[in-house]
Amino acid sequence: MENCILKVALDTPLDFCFDYVWAVEESTVRPLAGQLVLVPFGRREVVGLIVAVHETSEVPLDKLKQAIAVRTQLTPLSAEWIALCTFAADYYQRPLGEVAIPGLPKNLRALKTTSLDKAIKKLGKAGAVHDATPIAMPQLNPAQQEAADAIASATGFAPTLLYGVTGSGKTEVYLQAAAQILAHSSDEHNPAQILILVPEINLTPQLEANVRARFPDVAIATLHSGLAEGERMMHWLAAHLGQARIILGTRLAILSSLPHLKLIIVDEEHDPSYKQQEGLRYSARDLAVWRAHQLNIPIVLGSATPSLETWHHAQSGRYRKLELRERAVRDAVLPKVGLIDLERKAPREQMTEGVSATLIAALKLRMERGEQSLLFLNRRGYAPVIACDSCRWISNCTRCSAFLVLHKLDKRLRCHHCGYEQRIPRSCPTCGNVDLQPLGRGTQRVEENLQAIFPEARILRIDADSTRRKGSAQAAFDTVHRGEVDILIGTQMVAKGHDFQNLTLVGVMNPDTALFSHDYRASERLFAQLMQVAGRAGRVAQKEGGSASEVLIQTRYSQHPLYAAVRTHDYDTFASELLEERQQACFPPFMYQALLRAEAKELKIALDFLHQAIDCVEHGGITMNDPIPMTMTRVANVDRAQLLVECASRPALQAFLKVWIATLREMKSRVRWSLEVDPVDI
Ligand code: ADP
Ligand code: ZN
Ligand code: ZN
Repeated sequence: MENCILKVALDTPLDFCFDYVWAVEESTVRPLAGQLVLVPFGRREVVGLIVAVHETSEVPLDKLKQAIAVRTQLTPLSAEWIALCTFAADYYQRPLGEVAIPGLPKNLRALKTTSLDKAIKKLGKAGAVHDATPIAMPQLNPAQQEAADAIASATGFAPTLLYGVTGSGKTEVYLQAAAQILAHSSDEHNPAQILILVPEINLTPQLEANVRARFPDVAIATLHSGLAEGERMMHWLAAHLGQARIILGTRLAILSSLPHLKLIIVDEEHDPSYKQQEGLRYSARDLAVWRAHQLNIPIVLGSATPSLETWHHAQSGRYRKLELRERAVRDAVLPKVGLIDLERKAPREQMTEGVSATLIAALKLRMERGEQSLLFLNRRGYAPVIACDSCRWISNCTRCSAFLVLHKLDKRLRCHHCGYEQRIPRSCPTCGNVDLQPLGRGTQRVEENLQAIFPEARILRIDADSTRRKGSAQAAFDTVHRGEVDILIGTQMVAKGHDFQNLTLVGVMNPDTALFSHDYRASERLFAQLMQVAGRAGRVAQKEGGSASEVLIQTRYSQHPLYAAVRTHDYDTFASELLEERQQACFPPFMYQALLRAEAKELKIALDFLHQAIDCVEHGGITMNDPIPMTMTRVANVDRAQLLVECASRPALQAFLKVWIATLREMKSRVRWSLEVDPVDI
């Protein structure tokens, strides 16, 4: 054999592999599938992935270019890993290279190999040593023990829903199941790796500290978007080379190379953050299930409020359901949930800047007792809009169908969609009125108001604005854990996962808007969010002379069935009812969907393109809905429209999408379009 042909996946929008020649005679290197390779592409040189090595090509040999160099330093990526990327590419209708390549650390994709050669040497020497104070595993309660044993002893593909109320000690179950699996595979011939996914980057330090303390002798890798390139490379390599036994990460970690993967855990599996919302719009949870299936290993999906998809599978018996009904810490109980009825006539609720007298009294009580409170408001900034009373001018973003949000602290108006910002105008740009009014409330305003009400209180706001600097979120949470905060104000960032020890009150400011959203998933999400944020309270037993833990929700719709379910912590009934509604309305999980989006300078062009898209293929058996403008139609001077396609059969939808997308690609329209499979925001 003189030459061989490398089938190479490249990070380009072109949906095929490229053939390159490798002159075998001239080199001692025999390229293998799974190796990275440097190749010429147009006028550039790029790094691609060898997907297969063939003897011949359909392209005449003299038309093919020579590959430049094979990255032999790196152990080839496994066939399983390539299969995972291939599946994701097929399922989400993207080119393989766009799935496989961008997820690799930058240094691996770099043209020069110096940093790679360095990193590999360093890893060889250092392993992944760390210094944590070891902590013994606590004694599990019987329900936890049963769950941990069931997970650790499962063989083959065994999807399990770990359905446990907030504070029931799910993390402990994961860790002890992991310990059992690691103990069984301690010999070098049968090593095990365990992947633990968490939804929020801010939850990784807490979990990491926990895991390090429990497994002082085990190498751990973390993978999330907050790592510097060098760190990311080390962690990725430790996982790829099989050195790291426990891998913690956010959604992107699902695409990492894990040659000895034996167990996958998806914590808070219902969380929307598992869905990537741009580029390759994958669901890390769904890919995790596929990966477990492909490897024939167990997977645990943990949640207090499982997604309806997962709940449906558990009800139908496809997934096993393990339950933890009680909080793990002795005598800790779920908080009492109360509604503050803002519509009540007598006695009418006295409001101070959006905070009710009842809530203020509850906050005051906590302050007096030295306990912490959390106020949850899912809207950052000072006020969502400023307006002029005399001419009705309102702070619209000129580039988006959105308001400019008032950020009082840095004296700016900001669009949260396109990033546009300007100084706060001194007077109305239309009529000159100097008395511009902020309308509505964001976290900054609530912070300011509460400080006025409680001048002595130590108030801390945690949201995307207050935690922009690297490490600042962690520092903020540490302050809370050290007890240096009386009242914590925050967005959904603070609602998830955190184990606050001295928090006995959660106030929810204005959740009502989500009750009447056009998005049929809004109530599922609101319910999960309320249960999650409620779950931050009462995580330890009530202290003597201390307060019982309590959640107070301010609402104008106190009779709404969703709140009734939140009050009784009754996810089962709520989920069953929602599932029934979904079935009747033919919504997911009883229907499979894909969303084609189009963007253009004018709405009409985008809509025309979508109409064309309907007409360009045969679509029997597939429901093609009418193209419509997106709810947020204009973003950054671009109009956006969408077309929802549906089918009761996933394979039928997949088969259709394949043909459809190929046809759309050939249309070579100048309209920018993208496809989302299993969309969540529609
Ligand atoms: P979840 O993830 O289910 O909300 P966590 O895993 O955060 O709950 O556990 C809640 C708290 O209970 C933590 O402080 C944890 O240390 C504690 N805990 C868990 N299991 C036990 C146990 N068996 N005995 C005592 N404390 C426990
Ligand atoms: Zn005006
Ligand atoms: Zn904008």
